[in-house]
Amino acid sequence: MKISLPESGLTLQPGKLLCIGRNYAKHAAEMKSEVPETPMVFLKPATALVGNDGVIHLPAMTQDVHHEVELVVVIGKEGKNINEDEALDHVAAYAVGLDMTARDIQATAKQKGHPWSVAKGFDTFAPLGALVPAAAINDPQDLDIKLTIDDEVRQEGHTGDMIFSVAHLIAYCSKIFTLQLGDLLYTGTPEGVGPVHNGEVLKAEISGMPPLEVRVQRDS
Ligand code: MG
Repeated sequence: MKISLPESGLTLQPGKLLCIGRNYAKHAAEMKSEVPETPMVFLKPATALVGNDGVIHLPAMTQDVHHEVELVVVIGKEGKNINEDEALDHVAAYAVGLDMTARDIQATAKQKGHPWSVAKGFDTFAPLGALVPAAAINDPQDLDIKLTIDDEVRQEGHTGDMIFSVAHLIAYCSKIFTLQLGDLLYTGTPEGVGPVHNGEVLKAEISGMPPLEVRVQRDS
């Protein structure tokens, strides 16, 4: 999926989707997981992307797919070893996104010490809303974030509760990966994650951004 930067009219093909696990203390607690001392990074393939009004396909391999609503950062300037105080200069846009997770597959992976790639990487497991220019967002740590299913609120949080800030995450990730134009960073989810079911409509919202709506469909 290509993404369009508003105003500039630039169209980008995201190369990598960086995702952060356990970046809100209450979510770490509901997963009975420890709060990490450094950001916990994993990757999703770009083939997991799906846009607004799209469909999340529930794969036959899992019976327990969860929603995780997240603030997503779009990188607009290449960088490596970026200083935290310059990190936000590398942001082109923000959006609301969903880090869909096959919780049953993830639980087995955790037990066995295996990677999370399968639990997190299925096609359509990274819905992404319309991009908002970075200049329109005053402070990425002062945003309300919410997920409703069929008009019932399931997750409600505030980006000020992140353990590691957006600037810190960009600086940290850029020590490992060269951040490139169009790369996406899913910054973690607040508490309230839970299962989604065939036919449900998910609405993800962050203050000052257009909402993201996706429908859930089990194909088989
Ligand atoms: Mg997540």
